[in-house]
Amino acid sequence: MSDKTYSHSPPPSASDAIRALLYSQITQNGPLPISSFIEIVLGHPDFGYYRRQNPIGAAGDFTTAAEISGLFGEMCGVYLEYMFETAGKPGTAQIIELGPGCGSLMADMRHIWARTMPTMLDLPIHLVETSPQLRKTQKQRIQANSITWHTDVQSLPNAALFGVANEFFDALPIDQAVWRQGRWRHRLVTAVHGTLGFVDGPALTLPELARWQITNDHQVITEGSIAEYCPAAEIIMQQLASRITHYGGACLIIDYGKNDNFNDTLQAVSAHKPVDLFYQLGNADISHWVNFAALRRTAINAGSRFVGPVTQADFLKAIGIRERAENAARSYDASGRRSLFAAFDRLVGAHHMGTAFKVGLIVPAGNGVPVGFSREDK
Ligand code: SAH
Repeated sequence: MSDKTYSHSPPPSASDAIRALLYSQITQNGPLPISSFIEIVLGHPDFGYYRRQNPIGAAGDFTTAAEISGLFGEMCGVYLEYMFETAGKPGTAQIIELGPGCGSLMADMRHIWARTMPTMLDLPIHLVETSPQLRKTQKQRIQANSITWHTDVQSLPNAALFGVANEFFDALPIDQAVWRQGRWRHRLVTAVHGTLGFVDGPALTLPELARWQITNDHQVITEGSIAEYCPAAEIIMQQLASRITHYGGACLIIDYGKNDNFNDTLQAVSAHKPVDLFYQLGNADISHWVNFAALRRTAINAGSRFVGPVTQADFLKAIGIRERAENAARSYDASGRRSLFAAFDRLVGAHHMGTAFKVGLIVPAGNGVPVGFSREDK
């Protein structure tokens, strides 16, 4: 046998490495909470999904409103301008964004401010972003003098904040419970015959049931029904809302979501197609439908006000997206106009993002209905 025939096994892929890590944790400690599974699969520094440079956009795995058209960021920019003015243009304010992705939304907001509210361009920008790769992309895209990155909301400066979180809360890890014979049990991740899958865990305790506040609205709970809980969303919302309570400001929360936590909404997406949660570990984005009822409850408990949610279509139309698109279209040629109106349709059309996406607003406690929100809170 020639000494050239020795074989090296191929280097393990990121997916294999994550699978091995999960197996070893499950063998040592037993089944994992779904939130721990998601944290590893998305956040592992070497093999997790967020190690990627460009998960967002046509060449990535999913496209956000901010990447569809500059119209979206411009409308958010116009809105924050209005909130800044309504708050009396506080001198020590900051601009914030949670999970800025490629930085397009912030860049498009600044584009508008340059034309209509240049004072907002001078406010320091504070971005909450955990991915080192995306921080680099944001730095290049936003091109501002004063940007500070934070790993969490807690380290933001003590000052009024004006900001936005688009498709941020859906990315946070959730836990699930499953209804079995009259009780809610934790739904955990385990390895069965060498394959990852779900298993029932212990029943939720009374304090857990009080925290989860499972609401099934008009839907019937049957054997195997699923409920969800996002602990990280509540911690972040608590910190964000208490800052707004103490220092003032306004923050838009935009995401696909609903007003309860009933049903299984976990989804994995790779190259714009749904994939199995346990397939392509670390190569697919994992998200869930945001529970706006929990966000609202947490914001109110932190002393602030949560206006909405209303649908993205209702919000964007109420603040004038149609007029803005028609105005912009005047300076485009026929093909430019076609793509502009296609983007408009994706943002507000009921079969695209218009109704699945909701918009909520955190402001200090007060009365009245802010522009864009057709009704009082809720
Ligand atoms: N807002 C952007 C991107 C949304 S994707 C857009 O609209 O295009 C989700 C973003 O949240 C990514 O930037 C991701 O890296 C970031 N992210 C996910 N979990 C996070 C966490 N726990 N803390 C801070 N940022 C997080």
